This record gives sequence, structure tokens and C-alpha cells, in this order.
Amino acid sequence: MIEIKTLTVLGSTGSIGTQTLDVARMHGYRIKALSAHKNYKLAEEQAREFGPETVCMTDETAYSELKTRLADTDIKVVYGKDALCETAAAPCDMVINAVVGMVGLEPTLAALNAHNRVGLANKETLVTGGELVKAAEKANNVDIVPIDSEHSAIFQSLMGNEHNKIEKIILTASGGPFFGYNKDMLRSVTMEQALHHPNWNMGRKITTDSATLMNKGLELIEAVRLFGVTPEQVEVVVHRQSILHSAVEYEDGAVIGQLGVPDMKIPIQFAVTYPKRLPSCSKKLSLFDVGTMTFERADEETFVCLAEARKAIAKGGTAPTVLNGANEAAVAAFLDGKIPFFRIGELVCECCGAVPYKGEVTLETIAEADLSAREYINGNI
Ligand code: NDP
Ligand code: MG
Repeated sequence: MIEIKTLTVLGSTGSIGTQTLDVARMHGYRIKALSAHKNYKLAEEQAREFGPETVCMTDETAYSELKTRLADTDIKVVYGKDALCETAAAPCDMVINAVVGMVGLEPTLAALNAHNRVGLANKETLVTGGELVKAAEKANNVDIVPIDSEHSAIFQSLMGNEHNKIEKIILTASGGPFFGYNKDMLRSVTMEQALHHPNWNMGRKITTDSATLMNKGLELIEAVRLFGVTPEQVEVVVHRQSILHSAVEYEDGAVIGQLGVPDMKIPIQFAVTYPKRLPSCSKKLSLFDVGTMTFERADEETFVCLAEARKAIAKGGTAPTVLNGANEAAVAAFLDGKIPFFRIGELVCECCGAVPYKGEVTLETIAEADLSAREYINGNI
């Protein structure tokens, strides 16, 4: 068992990153390195509080700014994608990957190849390069512990059942802010509505993905990659209260799940302390307060992103990369105010039908498929 003492946090200025630092603060973990993209102000505050050896910025202007601001310290400020991989590979007890988007893939591989344990929030990594990531995990004999709440719940439900066959994974979904809407109703929703998630406070990209249900599509692929099940073994269940975070059904009909209040600090902390559990500052679950838990089917005719994700994982190869690249580009366009909400799903489906995919998955074919998908979207908005 590894006793975690030193963490590197990639994407430290984001929703998961800041909550990871809350956990580190509470338990007194040492921070080896941090990374951020543009938010040099928060990165400076974090660097001054936690005193890492290195801070990596992936935006050039933010890098220059942070370098100047930290000139009175001996903290090394580095810049760029290669530096991000080097930061991930520097020896530490665990790398928390909380960057957003498939830019997280290479740092994840770099961390694993350097024998660093990885706490993985960055689901796009598994969607695009799942095969490569799992191969690196195996080759280096090092653990990936999921942070995504559903996958953490599945991971916890599998503990002690290593030799038992999984019959089915029950992947719960909150349904997002537009649950119950039909296609027509989705045509007039605003960005403000889309960015208002009923249960979770998250970054803008994943909040949008939760509203289109692409988040559940990405998570379905993530579950297939992480737990070695078929897509047919993953059942998506809309559970509006976000209390049952997912479950596993075994051959004998027993269903084991994990419940708790919707608070990402619980799965973040568990990834770090696994297999131990430590006290946390999160609210405890009161089933009396919850009262009722409901379970419904997702409407995949309206929320086409989920259906498209199923198609992509069934095709395999670089098809999930095309799906993910199309979605990242379409969501960025939506968040820039360039397209309305309903166009995200339409564009993703069009792109998946138009951009060819390859059977072979390598860093090169992934980069190529991702670029083609982004070009398709940017050329069609
Ligand atoms: P945020 O948008 O809040 O944070 C993203 C982080 O990544 C920030 O530190 C940001 O830096 C950095 N970043 C942004 N763009 C780049 C880039 N091009 N290169 C390197 N770093 C970049 O996202 P979340 O914390 O919400 O999500 C992070 C990941 O975790 C996502 O993959 C998401 O799907 C997953 N996840 C999140 C959950 C949540 O509750 N938030 C739940 C489950 C999974 P800066 O701030 O400087 O721009
Ligand atoms: Mg999730």
C-alpha cells in the first residue's frame, strides 16, 4: 500500500484542481507541482500557499506573467505541452490529472511511464486514448484510480470482488438541466440555462456536456475502458437526485453501489487515500433528507450525443476520438456564443458521419482524427 504524501496537480486552477488542493490542505499533503492554462492569478496564489517545486503554464502569456510574479521565489515556472509531460513525469506519489480536454492524454501517459500513480478526472484521456492508457498502466504496473464520481463509485463497488464476473454496470446520470425536454424545447435554451447544473458545480465544458448528455456518453466509454466491460453491459439510468453514484450488478443478482452527497471531494480524497478511508470535511448523507430516489431511462432520441457515443465505441479505433474532438470544438463554439445549444449535438452527429476513422489507435492516428474532427466542426459552424 502506498501512503500518499506528495501530489502533483495538473489543472490545479479548475473545479477539480481547487478541490484537490482543499483535500491536500486538510490532510497536509505536500504539493510537488501544479499546472494551469491561463489563470496565472490563482496559480500564483496556489504556488505561494503550497510552495511546489514547479508550476507549468500552457498559455504563453500566462506563463510570462506568472514567471515575473514568482521571481522572488525559487519556484520554477515552465511553459508548454512538453513541459506539462515533464511535470507529470517528475517523481511523486500521485499525479492528479484534472485538466479539461484531450490535451490530458500525453501527460497521463508520461505520468504512467514514469511509474507515477494517476488519479484521473480527465475523462477525455480515456475516451480518445483508452487503449494506450490501459496498456501503459499494465506495462508499468502502476494504478489509475478514477475520480469521476460514477467511476469512483464503480471502482469502490468492485473492491473485494476481483474474482467475480461483472454482469452489468449501472451508470447513473443526473439528467442535467434539460431532463424531460424534447428536441423542439432544446432549440430555445440559453447558455445561462445550460450552465446551471441542478446538482454539481463544475467547469463550463463538463457542465455543457452534462446538459447535452454527452458527459454520459463520454462516461460510458470511460467505463468500458476502465473496467473492461462491453458497451452493452453499461446501463445508463437517470437518477435526478445524484445520491447513488453508480453500481455494479453481479451474476447472482446482487447490486453493489456507492451512495453519498454530491460532493467531488469524496471521490477525489478516495483516489488519494485508496484503499484507506480518512475523515473528510464533506457533508454526510442523510437518507431521511433525500426521502425519495427515482430512476428513469434516458431519452436518446432527444439527447443525440449519448446515442452517438454508443455508436462511436461500437465502431472502436479512432471513432471515439472523432466524437470527442467534434464535441470539444462544438462546445467551445457554443461557449464562445457562436452556435446555439441544440447545434452541438447536430454538429457532433454530422461530424461522426463525415470524418473517417481508423482501426489502429496510436498517438499519431489519434492526433490526426482529433484534428480532422475539429476542422470539420470549425468549417461547419
Ligand atoms: P475546469 O474548466 O474547471 O478546469 C480545467 C483545468 O484545466 C484548469 O486548471 C485549466 O486552467 C486547465 N486547462 C484548460 N485548458 C487547458 C489546456 N489547453 N491545456 C492544459 N490545461 C488546460 O474543469 P473541471 O475541473 O470541471 O474538469 C476537469 C476534468 O475533470 C474534465 O475532464 C472533466 O470532465 C473532469 N471531471 C470534472 C468534474 C467536476 O466536478 N468538475 C467531475 C468529473 C469529472 P485555467 O484555469 O488556467 O484555464
Ligand atoms: Mg461524472
